[in-house]
Parts: sequence; C-alpha cells; structure tokens
Amino acid sequence: MTTLDDNLWEKCRTKIRNEISEESYNTWFQPINFDSITETKLILSVPNTFYKDCLEQNYLDIINSSLNSFTQSSIQTYFRLENNSSNHPKQETPKLKNEKEEHSISFTACSTINPKYNFENFVVGSSNQFAHAAARSVADNPKVTYNPLFVYGGVGLGKTHLLHAMGNAILKTNPQTKVRYLSAESFTVDLIESLKQDDMRNFRSRYRPLDVLFVDDIQFLAGKERTQEEFFYTFNALHQMHKQVILSSDSYPKDLSRVEERLRSRFEAGLVADIEPPDLETKIAIIYKKAEAHDKQIPANVATFIASNIKTNVRELEGLLLRVIAYASFTRRIIDLKLTKEVLAEFICDVNKNFNIATIMAAVAHHFEIKVSDIKSKKRTRNISVPRQIAMYLCRTKTKLSLPEIGRQFGGKDHTTVIFANKKISKNINKNNDLKKVINIIVSDIESGKTIKNIVKKNE
Ligand code: ADP
Ligand code: MG
Repeated sequence: MTTLDDNLWEKCRTKIRNEISEESYNTWFQPINFDSITETKLILSVPNTFYKDCLEQNYLDIINSSLNSFTQSSIQTYFRLENNSSNHPKQETPKLKNEKEEHSISFTACSTINPKYNFENFVVGSSNQFAHAAARSVADNPKVTYNPLFVYGGVGLGKTHLLHAMGNAILKTNPQTKVRYLSAESFTVDLIESLKQDDMRNFRSRYRPLDVLFVDDIQFLAGKERTQEEFFYTFNALHQMHKQVILSSDSYPKDLSRVEERLRSRFEAGLVADIEPPDLETKIAIIYKKAEAHDKQIPANVATFIASNIKTNVRELEGLLLRVIAYASFTRRIIDLKLTKEVLAEFICDVNKNFNIATIMAAVAHHFEIKVSDIKSKKRTRNISVPRQIAMYLCRTKTKLSLPEIGRQFGGKDHTTVIFANKKISKNINKNNDLKKVINIIVSDIESGKTIKNIVKKNE
C-alpha cells in the first residue's frame, strides 16, 4: 500500500480544532500522536484506554469525516495504545489533581455515550418491542429495579444503539449521573493495562463510583478468566450499592460459553430481553428513519426493495441505503427503483427459490452421506452435529424462516440451538477454508437444482 501524505493528520487536526471547543480539543486531541497512514487506515496512538474509548465513542465520526474531506480514498481511523517506552513522555489520564476533579472529567466531559444513538431514532417493531420497553423503563426509572438489564441478540440488530439511547436518556434527565459505556473488549484492555502498570487502585476507581455502567458485547469475556473475575467484583460492588448495570451480548446468559457460572447466573437474575431480526415493516420503517437523518426522501418502492433484499442485519440495511444516497448525490440523479437496482446489483442476490428446509436438509445429508432423519435426531456425535449445524445455518441465511420454526423442523430443537449453530458456522466459515468449500458445494448443489433432482429420483 502506498503511504499517503503524512501531513494529512495535521491538516485534519487543524480542521477539527476549528470545529470543537478549545477545551475539548486540548483535552482529547493534544495527547494524540500520529502513528502511520495508508490508503485505508490512519493509525493514531493515544496514551491509554481511557482516551481510546472516549475518542472512539465521541470523536471517530468527526475525525473520519474531516480526514476524508482532504482525500479521495476512504480512510478509517484506528487508535493504538502508546508503548510505555521512555521516549514517550507518559501521559496521565486527564486528571486528576484530586478525586473530585477526576470524576468531573471522566464522567461528565466524556460520558462515553454516543449522542448519535437515541430513543427517538430507534424504530420499534415486534422484534425489539420488549427490549425497547425494558430499556425505556430502566432509563426512565430512577429506582434501580431490574439489575442488570441484559440485552441479547444477533449482530447488527440494535443492541449498541439501545444501550447508548438509554445512556442519553439517563443523562438528559440527570446530567450529573456518572455513566460509563464501554465494550467488554475495552474493559479487558483497561484491566490488562492496569495490571501491567500495577495500578489496580486506579482501575477500580474508574468503575466503582459509577451510577450506571454499560458493558457492550459481554461475550468477549469468554475464556478470559482474570477479566471475568475482575468484572465479577466490579459487578458485585455496583450491584450492592444499587447502581445500574446494563449489559449486551450475542446470546442468552446461559448460552455464553466459557463464562463462569457465577457470572451467568448473575446476568440471568436481572431482566433479560432479546432482540430478534426485524420483520419487513420494521426494516422499511428503519430505512425511512435513517433516510430522514440524511434529509432524504426515499420512495416506498425503493424502501421495500432494499428491506426485502436484506434478511436480518440492520447495519447492512443502513450500509446499502447510504450507498444509494451517496450514488444518487454523486451522479445528481433522483433516488428511484432503477438507480437503486443499479447500485445494489452486486450486493443483492435474488432469493433463490430452490432453498427451503427440505432441499437444505437433503443437500447436507447427501454431502455428508448421512440420513435426513439423523439431522433431525438428537444424536450428538460430531459426524451428525456438524452437518446439522451447517443445515441450520443455511436455513437461517437462505430462507426467511424464524428461529423457532427452524428449531421445530429440526426435530423440535430449541431456538437457542439454532442461534448457537448459526453463530458457530458464521464465525468459522471465514476462518476455516474446508468448511467454506463444503458449504459452497452444498449451496451450489441446491442452486443448480441438483438436490431437487436427487430428491425426485429417490422418490421415483
Ligand atoms: P448491534 O450492537 O446489535 O450489533 P447496532 O446497535 O450497532 O447493532 O446497530 C447497527 C446499526 O443499525 C446502527 O447504525 C443502528 O442505529 C441501526 N439500528 C439497529 N436497530 C435499529 C432500530 N430498531 N432503529 C433504528 N436503527 C437501528
Ligand atoms: Mg454492538
């Protein structure tokens, strides 16, 4: 990759300086050091995780948009932690002359809540109605009743959005509330850094005085025993003081693998709310809402077209919509169905009519030389369970069937088994080439009609 203008960051920094308050600039931008730049990535180094979190949560958009105003390429910004080498003067967390000052800076100047995500721009449908109601109730009710609130659901379905919405609502009602949002990954990094610097006292002082702690994507703690232990203490300390803890995860507490039982049972002891993939109406409503945020009107047939071609992930839905908006604006054309189809042609594949539960099961069984009845059985041997998971994954990604429906058709399995299978295969498919090949073969057998021919032949 070619190296771009090293001054780009300086230009960008100057631009940002004119856009934000002097105080914010001095607090957050002065300590940043330039690390490197390529056509796709700008890497900046920051003194510690506190800066990293805060910049990511509050300033990433402004950095990326000012960066991209100077260049044609689309550059994303990443932060890395500075080495603690002696030629880097050690930066302190914006601090910290006395405890009081520390809190006022850590929790108020940088609440780590993203103002972009609020309840007003969160679309409620049957898929997220319960999670939304739970979130509203926790955010609106100063008395801590549901603790923790545990929101779970698949990727890109609005968990992070909902967490920030709660944070914003809480801060709006009471701006003095000490709120901190971070991902479980940042929590882990923070802990590792603190252990390395032998500074656990400071670590705890960042969490224990909080009124509300949000930890996003808690599944990241899987297998990290030391982090789980510290999180357990943090959780208990806050819980005992009736401080609100709000968590998100990609699965139900009980299904969190390699997470200690004592944590899982605590997570379950509060209120657990799930977010399901949105139905068509909700997807259309989300498209309108997102378009509105960009001051654009989207014709109904365009919204329906995009919504019906994206299965579940709202993030993808939004990405495609933005692509359409951007293309229309570059080419100075109006947004209509013709333009939308042109732009999205490469992203949208027509739903193949050959995919249904029967063809998927038959194709998988054929490939692995097992029986369809084995796939539906309770057998747990690897030669059966892996094909079963692949079949569940294909049902999930290639058909519009709901989780409970898929579970039912697989011999009355629970919907959480389907979630687990889908997650496992989606994760492994990118890491394991053999698995990818197998799935491609099965998919092409179904698409080409070979599977259907086999089924017909068998029944003749
Ligand atoms: P998750 O954390 O579950 O992976 P996010 O909260 O990051 O998903 O959501 C992905 C994108 O989809 C965000 O831009 C978010 O605003 C949007 N989104 C998801 N659900 C909704 C919704 N119900 N209403 C409006 N936007 C949504
Ligand atoms: Mg998220």
